[in-house]
Amino acid sequence: MPSPKPQQHPNSFILSPRRVVTLALLLLALALLLPRLAFLPRLLQISRHLRPLSSANPAPIMSSYTKELEIAQLAVQRASILTRRVFHEKAKGTVDKNDKSPVTIGDFGAQALIIAALKHNFPEDEIVAEEEAAQLREDANLKQTIWELVEKTRLEDEAGESKLGGPIKSADEMLELIDRGGSKGGANGRIWTIDPIDGTKGFLRGGQYAVCLGLMVDGDVKVGVLGCPNLPISDTARLTSSMADNQTDSSDHGVLFSAILGQGATSRPLASSSSDNPKPIKMRAVDDLSQATFCESVEAGHSSHGDQFEIAKKLGITRESVRMDSQAKYGSIARGAGDIYLRLPVKATYQEKIWDHAAGDLIVREAGGQVTDIHGKRLDFSVGRTLANNKGVVAAPVAVHGKVLEAVQEVLNAKQ
Ligand code: AMP
Ligand code: MG
Repeated sequence: MPSPKPQQHPNSFILSPRRVVTLALLLLALALLLPRLAFLPRLLQISRHLRPLSSANPAPIMSSYTKELEIAQLAVQRASILTRRVFHEKAKGTVDKNDKSPVTIGDFGAQALIIAALKHNFPEDEIVAEEEAAQLREDANLKQTIWELVEKTRLEDEAGESKLGGPIKSADEMLELIDRGGSKGGANGRIWTIDPIDGTKGFLRGGQYAVCLGLMVDGDVKVGVLGCPNLPISDTARLTSSMADNQTDSSDHGVLFSAILGQGATSRPLASSSSDNPKPIKMRAVDDLSQATFCESVEAGHSSHGDQFEIAKKLGITRESVRMDSQAKYGSIARGAGDIYLRLPVKATYQEKIWDHAAGDLIVREAGGQVTDIHGKRLDFSVGRTLANNKGVVAAPVAVHGKVLEAVQEVLNAKQ
């Protein structure tokens, strides 16, 4: 007798070949979709940032790094108040041009103020700063002078009053703060990088210098702020050679450049309060490279004026280069006051310092520029206190960067 067929309940699940195939297809589709779903949070984040721009009544943009940017701007503004004061009280009109003490005072004072502000707000973060306090430990008078200046500046600076922390209680506490800038840098975690006075020679001449602050997270620059006390406030003022010195007695000077990765770059007056609206800045569209303005260091020891001249000639640039100190060059091309910044190595062994480039690199890229080294590699901030993986700097609008790089390589290859 044939055995009875098992009774099949109408709702029971039977793995027929067709169902196995359907199930396999479903699983395959899910596997293909999953990696794309990982982008959803990022997508939502971007749309959160975009919404306020298109809305008639924008809500405040609460992105990550909003607080970091605000503190960085206040700290740079406060440090710039100090450097301006040092220039007027101690540098301007000094007879002995070899006297570097105004630079020392300004450098240490500005670094102490910025680190105090960072420590108050982000106590866990590491800091890579240019100066270390050893020299001050040997000189009690200098130490006292700087501390008094630092405290005087702090008390006068109303903009940062509620957000940058209380007094630095003693000159020795100030030295400890200065020495918190000794991090090795690297690819992990949150690391700020400070150049308290970039362009010391420009500072002494009353020309261009910059107070520079950048935040890197896992080796990538996320926030950049440049205080340029002696650049014109106006974004429409084109670069001229006369900007390299004697720019300090004008009320229409002093600009603060800022950027957050992915959110564009801005400028606003250095003396403004944080509620003042920053203005978006963009690099100039360069249709005809021969009409470009390029800038370079004043110091022939910092970049090769000869190579840069040859490159400009190859590009058909007829205008003379604008020479100015500091990362003011990055800020200037970011707002279209100039177009190209060339920094061709003089010595093959020199490693650029991260504090000389972090803020400027981000501000230019966020303004529509491309920043690479002479080999076309992006600047790599993840390998310590120097840009050990890079040589030189080539910064230009994205659309023409390739052409500029080609000229750079032709000139360098011809030398070999
Ligand atoms: P800049 O004002 O653009 O000439 O750059 C000033 C920075 O150049 C200083 O902060 C120094 O860290 C850096 N520097 C010093 N020596 C050299 C060098 N041999 N090559 C390139 N940069 C240098
Ligand atoms: Mg510097």
